[in-house]
Amino acid sequence: MTTYQQALDIILGSVNTVGHERIKLEESYGRALAEDVYSDVDMPPFDKAAVDGYACRRSDLGMVLHILEVIAAGQVPSHRIEKGQCTKLMTGAPVPPGADMVIMVELTEKTQPGYIRFAGGESPANIAYKAEDVKIGDLVVKKGVRIMPQQVAVMASVGQVNPLVSKKPRVGILSTGDELVEPNKTPEDGKIRNSNAWQLVAQVLAAGAIPNYMGIVPDEEHAMNKAVGMALEQNNLVVITGGVSMGDYDIVPEIMRRNKVEILFEKVAVKPGRPTVFGRAGNCSIFGLPGNPVSTFINFEVFVKPLIFGMMGLAWQYLECELPLETDFLRKKADRLEFLPVKINSSGKVDLVSYHGSAHIHSLCQANALMTIPVGKTGIKKGELVNVRPL
Ligand code: AMP
Ligand code: MG
Repeated sequence: MTTYQQALDIILGSVNTVGHERIKLEESYGRALAEDVYSDVDMPPFDKAAVDGYACRRSDLGMVLHILEVIAAGQVPSHRIEKGQCTKLMTGAPVPPGADMVIMVELTEKTQPGYIRFAGGESPANIAYKAEDVKIGDLVVKKGVRIMPQQVAVMASVGQVNPLVSKKPRVGILSTGDELVEPNKTPEDGKIRNSNAWQLVAQVLAAGAIPNYMGIVPDEEHAMNKAVGMALEQNNLVVITGGVSMGDYDIVPEIMRRNKVEILFEKVAVKPGRPTVFGRAGNCSIFGLPGNPVSTFINFEVFVKPLIFGMMGLAWQYLECELPLETDFLRKKADRLEFLPVKINSSGKVDLVSYHGSAHIHSLCQANALMTIPVGKTGIKKGELVNVRPL
């Protein structure tokens, strides 16, 4: 059986990219930056006052100082500071030549109209120096970064108003199963609601791609063949749920082959989600995920998301932490790498959540992380460090 790491390597070795586009900065949140961004300015662009106060010479701190002028942010001082002189500055105003510090307003006293004196003990310079943050030509945002509000701010500050980003992959979603009805229906005997497709739509959106939900497909060759063929034609990636296990009607892998999908792995030594299938057909990748909702959820997180990120040129990274387990954990079999829904509590420890197995989707609403239990490990003692990745 394929190991988790082998499966991930196969997925990341088989990334189909989707091209680039230029978009407006205000629409760039969450997108994958496809070019390095350099600064066209020094930041700060001039020595500027970091506080409201008086620009003067440090060697004059013991003297009464004559106020030459008052400069607001956005204005330019017209006088040089000489001995015994100062200029009142608002935060962000340029420091006039001749001054080497700005005394905070709070540390001054007026001696007579137009004059002040330093009334403190010590004072830092209170100047934000030209180019101390960024120099002209510096690389400020790297290609391959997911654009978050802080990157938007930096791009705005360097005038990059049309960043080049990766196009969003279009992800076709199919649910299979004769038992499924859509969530707006009340299930009759033997039926259940289709939760996977709607969960996948949300997961695809969260990953930064475009979900294309294509409906419920019955467990019947003809219909499935048509649906899979259409999905492969219309999308960059297809995610099918259900129909990949050992049941009589689990025909998804067979239908994939019939649609000229080259299967790159089938069955991975992970729990949940052993029957996960992955393949390629032309420039489209395709996953078959087991239908149990927690399997679908977790296998999207650990396998599909890395591929979507790769398609957009993002380096796949998830925050991985080692935290102590709050209670003892025991499992019977240790032949697979297990991903278990857990909760990182406010003391930074890992609580187990009530979990009855891979159909128990409600347990994921109590969880905020997945704990990884390595192959070969059956028991974990309270206090032992475990590997968790926040969801
Ligand atoms: P399967 O992988 O098709 O054998 O399905 C495994 C289990 O997951 C069965 O109990 C299905 O009823 C359930 N299941 C399959 N697809 C879905 C879905 N889209 N939403 C919720 N449960 C599902
Ligand atoms: Mg099924």
